Amino acid sequence: MNICVVGSGYVGLVSGACFAHLGNRVICVDNDESKIKTLKKGAIPIYEPGLAELVKRNYKELRLSFTSNLKQAVKSSEVIFICVGTPPRDNGEADLSFIEHVARDIALYMPSYRLIIEKSTVPVNTGEWIEHTVKLFNKRNIKFDVASNPEFLREGSAIEDFMHPDRVVIGVKSKKASDILTELYKPLDAPIVITDIKSAELIKHASNSFLATKISFINSIANICDKVGADISEVAKGMGLDKRIGEKFLNAGIGFGGFCFPKDLAAFVMISEKVGYNFGILKEVQKVNDGQRTVLVKKIEGLLWNLPKKTIGILGLSFKPDTDDIRYAPALDIISELLKEGVNIKAYDPQGMPKVKRVLKNEIKFCKDAYSVAEKSDCLVIVTEWNEFKELDFKKIKKLMHQPVIVDGRNIYDPAEMKRLGFRYVGIGRR
Ligand code: NAD
Repeated sequence: MNICVVGSGYVGLVSGACFAHLGNRVICVDNDESKIKTLKKGAIPIYEPGLAELVKRNYKELRLSFTSNLKQAVKSSEVIFICVGTPPRDNGEADLSFIEHVARDIALYMPSYRLIIEKSTVPVNTGEWIEHTVKLFNKRNIKFDVASNPEFLREGSAIEDFMHPDRVVIGVKSKKASDILTELYKPLDAPIVITDIKSAELIKHASNSFLATKISFINSIANICDKVGADISEVAKGMGLDKRIGEKFLNAGIGFGGFCFPKDLAAFVMISEKVGYNFGILKEVQKVNDGQRTVLVKKIEGLLWNLPKKTIGILGLSFKPDTDDIRYAPALDIISELLKEGVNIKAYDPQGMPKVKRVLKNEIKFCKDAYSVAEKSDCLVIVTEWNEFKELDFKKIKKLMHQPVIVDGRNIYDPAEMKRLGFRYVGIGRR
């Protein structure tokens, strides 16, 4: 199929490269000209494992191309995916102005039938607004369909998630739209849920909110473990073996971040309010998540006594491992709380530093690796569970540190082993 993907970010670029890999001809569009220039030069503007190779191969084999010219892309593609950002407004509501903009332009440029698919995460009823907008600017009365096809990929394992999804959700109004999307996704050999557009839109927000709830639930249990001297890893194991609960998303820690959970949760709370439902559970999930940052800072304070002028080493800045994405990263909240306390901060992240440098500039010291972070630090804090932090030489770390103190916000180390090595160590809900 000839496909146009509008928005070449984490979702658009991965989707475009994967659709091309499946044998389609894909044009990725972005209105950020510098991003398109970078892509045309064969470089990738984001870090995502395996993406550079996939993009390069498909670009070379002419299945994948890049442009900032939406008109040209819409002209040559029957199937159009909208993958632009839906960032939160100040009140938490999703800002849908990018979506509206693109819908209007597609209506102006489409020469014949087009299937317009919302892949961005959007509030329920957005499909209706897209249809309304396209009708409004579609002066020549050209036939079109709107569909919803929410994306469930996770940064860090985006290609694997895209190519092997648990399910593909398709929300449609017409058989033609359903047939095109079913054909497109056939090679993935995944269960396909075909439903109406509103239900498809709700599936995405409901799924992310449910997963976020699971995280805040286990974090609440971890906080109880801390108070009574139980161990959250034992509790989570005992819970997770129950098939009705499952073991995934039961890792206690400093809470979730990223461009999906915090913003989708806030948007879903607002959507619910708009339709007259007070989604109290989700408000509590947000509150628990925000509170986990403070839990961590209190633990650091508990081990260091006074914080002013102490040096704290932060390991991990990206919101999760295997990505350079720092949007709503817990590290940023924690650093901001610690700076207010008057501490000096040293930090290292395998991929996230360039983006953090743009935000924090000279406020913290950026280091070349975990060992230089440890040097003369009073406390080492694990914020993102990158694999390389799981394999550090702790004898060396201990010698480098000013005091041997570790606060493990992701529970990646064994507390008994850390104590044996001579560290004062605390995790989240660990004994
Ligand atoms: P992103 O910011 O990485 O990418 C969005 C891209 O859209 C940017 O490159 C931006 O320049 C471009 N853009 C904005 N307006 C445009 C326009 N008018 N024309 C062309 N390009 C335009 O965002 P993302 O992380 O890829 O997320 C995109 C959507 O997918 C969001 O709704 C998000 O919630 C959803 N989503 C994200 C993930 C994830 O893990 N990042 C997973 C599932 C769903």
